[in-house]
Amino acid sequence: MSPLWRPAYVAVGSNLNSPRERVLEAIERMGRLPATRLLLRSRLYSTRPMGPQDQPHFVNAAVGLLTQLAPQELLSALLRIEQTLGRDRRQRWGPRVIDLDLLWMIDSPVCEPGLTVPHPGVSTRNFVLYPLADIAPTIKIPKVGNVLDLKRDAGGDGISVLE
Ligand code: ATP
Ligand code: CA
Ligand code: CA
Repeated sequence: MSPLWRPAYVAVGSNLNSPRERVLEAIERMGRLPATRLLLRSRLYSTRPMGPQDQPHFVNAAVGLLTQLAPQELLSALLRIEQTLGRDRRQRWGPRVIDLDLLWMIDSPVCEPGLTVPHPGVSTRNFVLYPLADIAPTIKIPKVGNVLDLKRDAGGDGISVLE
């Protein structure tokens, strides 16, 4: 933990067990993490699954946090929320009750086993970039790009706004 409060952005996704409720529950739990404040939440999106197509559509969102946690501490907290909600890892990119990905944290690039920040998916995945652009349209992720440019390049295939 550091005395500095740093912005961090987290992608949220679910396609099992009432996905909209699970996404909102995970967001509520992120708002109660120690040394962390939830500042922004995107709209909710309905999105086509990545990978195996024989699974339900996803509900996706993104949140903006301010946190004193180190990236590794924040990831551990996110994985604990996933466990609490019953995340079960069976199939790569398969259906899941909740997925929380740490997209980016300012001044905190990480590349180590178990944690890569910025998250590799942030550069191309439209179901991440649409929500992220709701809450952080003007940010530039170092070595990745501007969120609005990335969103435009990704295109809106398979995405619709739920609320
Ligand atoms: P993808 O990472 O391609 O979106 P996924 O979300 O389905 O796939 P998971 O099974 O949820 O993958 O996560 C596998 C592991 O990825 C986690 O246990 C975690 O250690 C690691 N990981 C590495 N970088 C990150 C990050 N930035 N955010 C979340 N998890 C990460
Ligand atoms: Ca993911
Ligand atoms: Ca994940």
